Order: sequence, then structure tokens, then C-alpha cells
Amino acid sequence: MSATDDPLFPPRPLPLVPVRDSSRGFPIHRIFCVGRNYAAHAAEMGATAVKEDPFYFTKSPFSYVASGATIPYPPGTADCHHEMELVAAIGAAGFRLPLEKALDLVFGYACGLDLTRRDLQGEAKDKRRPWDLGKDFENAAVLSEIVPAAAIGHPTAGRIELSVNGETRQSGDLAEMINSVAETIVHLSRFYHLAPGDLVYTGTPSGVGPVVPGDRLEGRIDGVGEITLTIGEPE
Ligand code: MN
Repeated sequence: MSATDDPLFPPRPLPLVPVRDSSRGFPIHRIFCVGRNYAAHAAEMGATAVKEDPFYFTKSPFSYVASGATIPYPPGTADCHHEMELVAAIGAAGFRLPLEKALDLVFGYACGLDLTRRDLQGEAKDKRRPWDLGKDFENAAVLSEIVPAAAIGHPTAGRIELSVNGETRQSGDLAEMINSVAETIVHLSRFYHLAPGDLVYTGTPSGVGPVVPGDRLEGRIDGVGEITLTIGEPE
């Protein structure tokens, strides 16, 4: 026995995401999230969208929560927002990829909600601090089942929508992405050795807004699937 094989406490296993028509789960390695990838959302956040390299923030794998859950209203915020997103699930390793190889890494796609403590993110922006408190918190990475690309291909167009209590809040089209999934993977692979289990949240269309306890969120992406979440009372 040595310290490297005798843990002080049981290491927490990586979360497993259900895969459609499979009894096997997708273990989450890392979660990369693209900022401002739809022009209309950039505009509503007070930024001008131009075609430039994507930028990222990350979330812990342990911020994952499955579609269908009821989560407590997150702590430390009075302005928790929904961001409905297409998520690409990486199933193979790749580094410094050319564009024509990028989608070969994608095992499948899912619907995601990038929950955001907007007030804390805004404060961080104002103070030129990192966004972690605004973006990387428990239950902040909501994800549907993963649908294999082998079954649906690689969606580059189609409606992406979110309703809250039956009222449409977000509605866009995947074709409006500033950087495509393939372009984003190419760029990420210049900075990371992409690996099976990596997730890429690809940004949200316009219409982001606050949630409150009791809200029922329902999102869908044409050809990919659906996601639901219920906001409970704060703990
Ligand atoms: Mn987002």
C-alpha cells in the first residue's frame, strides 16, 4: 500500500449520463462551455457579436444533474438564469485537429441547460474576476440523455427552444451559431488534448432570463431531443 492507492475517503465516481437506446452510461470527464455563440444573445448581454475565435469557461463534472430533476433554487443568487444549449459529447481522443476531422470525435449530442447565477457573473465581469461563482456551481450543468451521432448525424440546423411554465422564452436555430460545433472542436483541440467524456456546451440563443421556485423548464432541439427541469425551493 502506498498513498497513491490508499485513498483517505472513497473517490467520488464520475457522473454517468444516460445514452439513448443503451444500457451503458457516458462518464463525464470535463465540461467546456462556449460563451456568446449566437449574435442575438451576445446583443442582449450588451456585447457585439463578431466572428472570432470562441472563448470558454468550464464547469466541474460534479455540477451535472440529469434532465427531469427537481433542483433547489441555487444558493447565493437572486438572479439565476436559464441558457438552453446544444451539447456535443466527445467520444474519442484528439489534439490539433483539422476541420475535416473534428466531428469524428463527437460520440453524440444532447440538450443542455447552462444554469447561470447572472448577478454573480455580472459582478465578476465588473470586477474583472473569473466567472466561476456565476457559472460553476452544484446542479448548474443540466443534461438530457445523449443521442449517438450514429443515429442522428451531426445537426447543423434546427430549432432550439426553451419554455418556462409553457411560455416560450428562448427560440433560435442551430444554424445561427457564430462558431459551429466543428469549428469549436478544432479551436479547443489547440489548447487541450480532447478526450472521451468531454462535453462541449455550445452556447445559447437569445431570450435568457430568470427562474424562480416552482418553475418548470422544458427545452427541445429538433432532431436531438428534449430536456426538463423543475426549480424547487432554496435549501
Ligand atoms: Mn451558456
